[in-house]
Amino acid sequence: MGDVASQAEREELARVLHAYVEYQRELGVLGFPAGAPTSTLVASSAAPASPAAAPTRVAAPTRDLFAAPGLGETASLDGLREHIGDCRRCKLAPHRTNLVFGVGNPRARLVFVGEAPGRDEDLKGEPFVGRAGQLLTEIITKGMRLRREDVYIANVIKCRPPENRNPEPDEVASCEPFLLRQLELIGPEVIVALGKFAVQCLLRSKEPITKLRGRWFDYHGIKLMPTFHPAYLLRNPADKRLVWEDIQKVMKALGIGGRA
Ligand code: URA
Repeated sequence: MGDVASQAEREELARVLHAYVEYQRELGVLGFPAGAPTSTLVASSAAPASPAAAPTRVAAPTRDLFAAPGLGETASLDGLREHIGDCRRCKLAPHRTNLVFGVGNPRARLVFVGEAPGRDEDLKGEPFVGRAGQLLTEIITKGMRLRREDVYIANVIKCRPPENRNPEPDEVASCEPFLLRQLELIGPEVIVALGKFAVQCLLRSKEPITKLRGRWFDYHGIKLMPTFHPAYLLRNPADKRLVWEDIQKVMKALGIGGRA
């Protein structure tokens, strides 16, 4: 009896496999040929990488990549958090201390999206509270002259990968639909995607972050600005200048002043 999967377990397995195959197909991984994308992300011609650069098309995630029953009916961030519950949908669950849902203004005009919780975030249940988080907070407060609670901060995945390894495709496939719903519920004008992993994942792109940063993309109708991750800036402080350039574009798009 013990090793016979129940109907519910078989359904869950089918759902995870479907999401995984879909994710691989969208990435164009060999064996899962990419079909016609259901939508596209187009780098805005209003802010090209250089005046001569043509808009870049990249495959976009499908809106219901992992259409968990009831996800679309969640009507608030609290409702979404309740829907996620004590999540066991992927193999990260046994490793986490806290699920890191996201924090900030539920009506924020600006959302920062990182990769995944680290150790400090896992312990506290809040994104970006470690050293990289302190730098992000400085960018928000000292650079943009906003309060941390004015914006919203989240990650592509909500549980810490062991040893801070990169999230794996099945983990992203399980968790990203929650981020999509979170963004739908918040309705921001701008998303800042932090670092190579979050940027490549959200944009379904394999282009290096150095090529993607500083350019506007359209993510399900929301302007998205890729930039370097604060943890990268801790190791490469000279590139803070480039992040500041990206952030100034964001402030301009939001019509806010920031640092003089
Ligand atoms: N790095 C991330 O990408 N997210 C966090 O929440 C913390 C560190």
